[in-house]
Amino acid sequence: MIGLVIVSHSRMLAEGVKELALQMGQNKVKIEAAGGIDDDENPIGTDPMKIEEAIRAAYSDDGVLVLMDIGSAIMSAEIALEFLDDDVRNKVVLCEAPLVEGAIAAAAQAMSGSNLKEVIAEAKNSLQAKNVLLQNEDNQEADINEQNNELELTTRNLQIIVPNKLGLHARPAAKLIEIVNAFDANALVALDSKKPVSASSISLVGTMGAKKGEILNFTLSGKEADKLEKALIEFQASNFGDEDKEIIRSTTKIEKVKSVSDGIQGIAASSGIAIAKAIWFKKDLPIIEKEHTDDAEHEIVLLQEAIKCVNRDLDSIQQKIASKFKNDEAQIIDFHKLLLQDKDLFESVVNMLREESVKASFAWSSQIKKLEKQYLAMNNEYLRERASDVVEIGNKVLCELLGEPKNKIDLKEECIIVTDELGPAETMDLDLNLVKGIVTRVGGETSHSAILARSLGIPAIVGVGDKIDKIPNKELLAIDGVSGEIWTKNHTSIIADLRKRKKIDDEMRESSQAKAKAPACTKDGKTVQILANVSGAKEAKIAFENGAEGVGLYRTEFLFMNRDKMPSEEEQYQAYKEVCISMEGHPVCIRTLDVGGDKPIPYLDIAEENNPFLGLRGIRYCLQNTELFKTQLRAICRLSAKYNVRIMYPMVGVIEEVISANMLLREVQQDLLKEGIDFSPNMSVGVMMEVPSSIFFIPQLANELDFLSIGTNDLTQYLLALDRDNRSVAKYHSPFHPAVLEAIREILMRSKKAGLEVSMCGELAGNTKATNLLLALGLEKFSMNGPAIPAVKEKIRGINFSAQKLLVNKLSTKRTLKELKTLIGES
Ligand code: PEP
Ligand code: MG
Repeated sequence: MIGLVIVSHSRMLAEGVKELALQMGQNKVKIEAAGGIDDDENPIGTDPMKIEEAIRAAYSDDGVLVLMDIGSAIMSAEIALEFLDDDVRNKVVLCEAPLVEGAIAAAAQAMSGSNLKEVIAEAKNSLQAKNVLLQNEDNQEADINEQNNELELTTRNLQIIVPNKLGLHARPAAKLIEIVNAFDANALVALDSKKPVSASSISLVGTMGAKKGEILNFTLSGKEADKLEKALIEFQASNFGDEDKEIIRSTTKIEKVKSVSDGIQGIAASSGIAIAKAIWFKKDLPIIEKEHTDDAEHEIVLLQEAIKCVNRDLDSIQQKIASKFKNDEAQIIDFHKLLLQDKDLFESVVNMLREESVKASFAWSSQIKKLEKQYLAMNNEYLRERASDVVEIGNKVLCELLGEPKNKIDLKEECIIVTDELGPAETMDLDLNLVKGIVTRVGGETSHSAILARSLGIPAIVGVGDKIDKIPNKELLAIDGVSGEIWTKNHTSIIADLRKRKKIDDEMRESSQAKAKAPACTKDGKTVQILANVSGAKEAKIAFENGAEGVGLYRTEFLFMNRDKMPSEEEQYQAYKEVCISMEGHPVCIRTLDVGGDKPIPYLDIAEENNPFLGLRGIRYCLQNTELFKTQLRAICRLSAKYNVRIMYPMVGVIEEVISANMLLREVQQDLLKEGIDFSPNMSVGVMMEVPSSIFFIPQLANELDFLSIGTNDLTQYLLALDRDNRSVAKYHSPFHPAVLEAIREILMRSKKAGLEVSMCGELAGNTKATNLLLALGLEKFSMNGPAIPAVKEKIRGINFSAQKLLVNKLSTKRTLKELKTLIGES
């Protein structure tokens, strides 16, 4: 950072200017005073030695600017330069700018990290700002005429009236910074006559609290100051990027939902009605104990790493939001990212680390709290609400620093969780006694958190989009997980109806649960096996209570999530064993790690991919990371000695993958044999049928395997080229698409011919609207989320199997999604 030296005939004046300039530079700029001479009787004068000392004290490789008052001050400063070595002297500039104004402007500019040239330009131009403020047109004109050309080219003052209704709130502030950073220029901005701040710092710009009609005074300098000026004028003309509609939306947010007359529509993801207090999930900043360390530099590195990690997470959330909603909403994340990149915030933490020798977590949380307070003190409600963004981002970095799982949800009362996004691991961790429902901004019907919510029996609505902001925190909320409707507390009569419906639903569920453990047998005596999809012992227990006759799909990836290293062989063994125990001897089909797609696991270090769903996912990852794969295979093989386990590979798209995976399985079994560890050599091995290509090599699969399981979630996604998690294409992502049903029919026919056992574990298996059809197509093993079992069993009990053949004939005449949905009563 540039240093400043103030040279004056008067020691007191030099000290006074220094005091003022230090304030302007927020005490971050090195400023030295060299005033008067050391002669008690004659203190007025200038001393070259004193100036030399001051220059050395203010010196850094960035350079020093020397400001002087009059006459011999200049001569003394020139003499002082003579005392310096060439390399130092070359970086010291004596500047003709007025002492007080120049020092103030130079300090403010230096603080923003500008180079020597920019600081000089700012100091030289300092009188112009004064002229503007005094509105002294004559002076201005005279002064402007006197400016040299270079100065005119490099330094500009610009006034902008805040045009938009909400003022410089988070999004325009973020946008403003983006604009400033896009040019090779520096910008200071002051609200009316307040102190200027760097226009590239979100913590400074965001907390200015500029309201509609107030004036922002910009001082622009640098090579592209003119272009930046133009861009800022355009930004103002665009109403700071706020559209009328957006203003209305934001205002609605401020006014909460008093005026909402209709329910909010989202995507129904898990059936059931929930009526409880809405709790917006945004964590408070925890209290961090002050701890000392003597390695400040190490703490700085830790902080940088943590910030980098959170930045990466934000990038991926932003991508997800952008692909599903309007780009506008992805821009909200920009505010979070700018906070992370804020030099001012970072420097204040670094200063604390160096000066107070505290740990990074303590310094970071102290500075975040300070910033939160600044936002809370704003007199604009919208800006005050940004305090929660500060806390949110602060928390994310803290979690990284402390190595804590992100977003641990700690609840104290029954509620419906309302949040932007709920990861599968967080969903798994929910306290089932307290969480009555889930509402999320992003997500689709077959996203993994939605699937988990179904397994846990929690009503859920996902993909609500920005209407989610209409849900007030801590007020009564009702959700209908079948229709996807959300009702706020003022819809009293609807909520009363929902209460009645919920009572009936609960009674029906209780009665079908009572029969759930009995087998599912059609009217004409055909027995169908009903299995469960689980991802841990918690769901397995729920499924068993609901009548599961084994596990058809155990998604093991959730054991690998929300932690910073992979589970050991023993940890995996114990976790899988717990599921086997809860199934009381029934078969448990353990799927090997299906990482990738919407189930990223950061510590596995999968390089960033343009199309994660088409990238290193499932078996593809495992075959490239054989140590990890073999550890999992060993845990499963050891279980096979005592429990009824089977193994299943996900995402198989070529036969070579099965051959390689089986080779590794045999290697693991050989090792166990050598080590004298028990396992069953007869454990069944199968694959998921979810990559469309696999349909075409079923006979080859039969040579290598014992069974297949149809994964309709991915089969639909890959067959129709429709992201299973993308709200904007959700209406077409349907397993009832004729092509998907045709693929299912093919798989069933081909596997029967090849003598392979086949089941279905995609979400379609648990949909009672598909039960007749699937039976008619020849499916005999269904695997679904536990809470869906009683209803599917009940449905099967009411079906006459032989009569279903007709349905298959009808099916072949229906070629559109609409026709098919009508046939099965879906639409
Ligand atoms: C599927 O793709 O249908 C499936 C069951 O696997 P997952 O949902 O875990 O990808
Ligand atoms: Mg799948």
